Amino acid sequence: MQTPFPTPSARLQGVATPVPGPLDSSGRCQRCGRPIPKPRPRQKACSSRCRWALWKAGQARSAQALVQRDREIQELLNVALRKLEGR
Ligand SMILES: [Zn+2]
Repeated sequence: MQTPFPTPSARLQGVATPVPGPLDSSGRCQRCGRPIPKPRPRQKACSSRCRWALWKAGQARSAQALVQRDREIQELLNVALRKLEGR
């Protein structure tokens, strides 16, 4: 007979593996990479200047995403129109 569930010790070993990536990056400035002296939760920048730069970068990214979305919608509309005309 076989047990339908995996052994608990094997599962624990998989979960116990530490993931250093996200933890390490939380204490560092996302713009210049310098460690933040007293990192608060959700703090991404070491100074107000870096925070401002990150905010501006985020704004530019979201604007770019909007342009990209508009282009995709335009393309989809073009395809739809072509299908309608080709009928
Ligand atoms: Zn910084």
